[in-house]
Amino acid sequence: MSTTSPFLAAAERHRKGVVSLLGDLVHTPSLSTNEEDVVNRLRQEMLDGGFDEVFIEPFGSVVGRIGNGPVNIVYDSHVDTVAIGSRGEWQTDPFEPTIRPDAGGGVMWGRGSSDDKGGIASMVQGAALYNELGRSESVTLWVVGSVQEEECDGLALEHVLTEVIPKPDLVVLGEATRCQVYRGNRGRIEVLVQLKGSSCHASAPDRGVNPVYHLAPVIAEVEALNSNLGKDDFLGSGSVALTKIECETPSLNAVPSTATIYLDRRLTAGESPEEALEEIRQLPAVKAAGGDVQLLTYERTSFTGMTLSQPKSFSTWVTPADHYGVKAGLETGRVALDKELATGSWVFSTNGVASMGKLGIPTIGFGPGDEVHAHTAHDQCALDDLVTAMAWYAAFPAVFAEHSRQVNLAGGNL
Ligand SMILES: [Zn+2]
Repeated sequence: MSTTSPFLAAAERHRKGVVSLLGDLVHTPSLSTNEEDVVNRLRQEMLDGGFDEVFIEPFGSVVGRIGNGPVNIVYDSHVDTVAIGSRGEWQTDPFEPTIRPDAGGGVMWGRGSSDDKGGIASMVQGAALYNELGRSESVTLWVVGSVQEEECDGLALEHVLTEVIPKPDLVVLGEATRCQVYRGNRGRIEVLVQLKGSSCHASAPDRGVNPVYHLAPVIAEVEALNSNLGKDDFLGSGSVALTKIECETPSLNAVPSTATIYLDRRLTAGESPEEALEEIRQLPAVKAAGGDVQLLTYERTSFTGMTLSQPKSFSTWVTPADHYGVKAGLETGRVALDKELATGSWVFSTNGVASMGKLGIPTIGFGPGDEVHAHTAHDQCALDDLVTAMAWYAAFPAVFAEHSRQVNLAGGNL
């Protein structure tokens, strides 16, 4: 290659380091609420990387700071993972990081490689590289390794952004974007629909009312609803999925007393949580059966002993394509990677539901790996992506600071 950016060349020199850090993280299981070991590993990595300040905040997320300038940027990647599912589906040990020559520079396999341990490994080392190559006087760069994202996206980051560090100018998420610049995802709600029946001995079912039978038309209407939801060119369509079904019954020789289904409803642009909930309440079969429709609540205690809770309602968010954070993200591609990057959106949900969706803080994403591997038994991250992401993370703060300066000069209206 004729020209190689100094950022890419410097990141390449740290390839071994970032691969080894990702290996350590994959080797350290970190289900939601059990992230303590991985948080401590990252805390050490930040201290070794020359961060000015490193601490574990009360809910358990690890936070590092570089610099003290007026432009505040938060890099966030979550450190928890989902469980492994069926072990038989895995070609490799999910907690034994395995490098396979699947693509040019090799691919790391193991739980969390794509979601989101590749992100936090390259963010922490990319921030250290930014420090090594020369930090911008105008920037305070925060790096957050957030907890419990897999169970309640946005909860831990919202806590950090409201209680722990000052409100930043921009949040950058390290969720997998195939090293492109993402700027939105669909929101969602989690809902239960419960039907009450009348329990009786199963030998004489006519004496009671079986609520499971009344679920059948409700389920059919939910399935039909899925193909009839809001559409959006950028974020994709709204969707609804039935994710669990249960009933309460005194015995296998009794008619159940209640029947419940759980729904995961994804909200595209123009769909609000309140309207989506009401839409389910208004389904004819739900009304006919007198169904009770409720938004679920999340509440878990962190490994630190602190408990947070919130309704399971997550806002749809999009940062406009012409926002200067998005422009800075694309320009960083040219500066650090000698590449024109594309913009896009995630199919899954991210901590952006809190940072942009709830708090209105402009948010973009740039991360190694591909989200199609997330939560699967072929969870993996290309090693070249780790190096590319490090280079981008190292270059971005100065590029963003310059865009921010120009926006301020223009009166904040760019
Ligand atoms: Zn994730």
